[in-house]
Amino acid sequence: MADDRASDNKGLFPAGNSRPHRLSAELGPNGGLDGDQADLWRRLRGRDIFLWGAGRWGRVICLRLEEWGLEAAGFLDSKADRLSPSVLGRPLSRPEPFLAQGPGGPRGPVLIITPHFFKESMLPQAEAAGFKRGRDLFLAEDFAPHHYIVEVSGVCNLRCLACPRGRQTPQARRGGFMSLKSFRAAAEKIKREDPLAANLQLYQWGEPLLNPELPQMIEEARAAGLPVSISSNLNVEADLERVAAAGPDWFRVSVSGTGSDYERTHAGGLWAKVLANMERLARSRDQARSRMRIEVYYHLYVHNQGRQLSEAREICKRFGFEFQPVQAYLIGLEEVSGQLKGRPFPPEAQQAASLLNVTIDQALLAARRDAALPCPAENVIMVDWDLSAPVCLMYFDRKQPPLSGNFLQTPLAEIKRRRKASPLCALCRSQALHRYCDVYYNWPLKDAE
Ligand code: SF4
Repeated sequence: MADDRASDNKGLFPAGNSRPHRLSAELGPNGGLDGDQADLWRRLRGRDIFLWGAGRWGRVICLRLEEWGLEAAGFLDSKADRLSPSVLGRPLSRPEPFLAQGPGGPRGPVLIITPHFFKESMLPQAEAAGFKRGRDLFLAEDFAPHHYIVEVSGVCNLRCLACPRGRQTPQARRGGFMSLKSFRAAAEKIKREDPLAANLQLYQWGEPLLNPELPQMIEEARAAGLPVSISSNLNVEADLERVAAAGPDWFRVSVSGTGSDYERTHAGGLWAKVLANMERLARSRDQARSRMRIEVYYHLYVHNQGRQLSEAREICKRFGFEFQPVQAYLIGLEEVSGQLKGRPFPPEAQQAASLLNVTIDQALLAARRDAALPCPAENVIMVDWDLSAPVCLMYFDRKQPPLSGNFLQTPLAEIKRRRKASPLCALCRSQALHRYCDVYYNWPLKDAE
């Protein structure tokens, strides 16, 4: 679902800092691509390519295809009726008519399921319609097998109720900033080890705008051909103009309601400040002629539905932002795991839990039904601000030893091998918590407005 919402603000983004479009002539089997990439290129060349999922990964794959000299024919999305008619200049429609037509022979249309997460419900639908993996059906991981998180800031200025970072407990996880030098080394290693790396997410448990070197990090990553995404509470004094000029590909603004209701769950934040910064961000984007996509990620609680949700949607329209409401949840899995073992939640988490639309019991029940499905986080490689590589992005508490104390010195294959053998993963799967977050992402939003 996270990849299923989009709007086309194309008119707001005159050509400015788009990445170079390479010609297909350069990329033939013996050209710029090699091995599996060249094989993939051969299979896709000359066919109509449809991207299922119009969110962040849909766009990442669309850009990757462009780099390879291939043009996507269109986007499909189950939320198409509520979105704009086109994405990145390609038509957007619902997936059902396309699936009903079925595959069209050896050189017929190709379907690419783009979400890295939440693809489990899409794959069986495509296969039931006759599409076959490797022939006319592909996944995001065929184009970008890993999702990379590089945490540039392990510090946050707010005290959000649902976030363990907000409880500011240094004994659970130390805070600090990644240096530009470390960032450069991490990005170089990612690029060297994984030529298919297609996106760097520069946040997880901290506020990236607090790192003064962020603009340069963005510039360098993009110059190296790595698109970047950031997420911010936008409740900080930061050089938004410089950030916009650096040109992140994706900028998420995290909110939970408007006015005093926002300040209740985004504790320590001021709504007036977010609103003023949203306006500034939109202006900076336009002045920099940036193609940066800006999304408002709206954490939906019982106290911020109805009028506030409509208000946030209107604000997005005004500034040319995309709007993504998502059911709120407690984001530190160790707290949910602890509760299953009889440990009470910290008071702030208890307060957040009392405001959830989808209760923790409901979510656990649904997660257990999906327990046999793979873990969506197993292909996520996270590099913390201190260059360690934690087992999992969803666990804040660092009691578990990391997969590597120094990402720069541990090969990717070894990091993956260690995760497979990790006791934390074994415990997590035994509690079905590896499916817990998906439950919230996939939970219907009907009647919220
Ligand atoms: S199994 Fe659990 S701990 Fe392991 S990567 Fe998946 S979500 Fe994280």
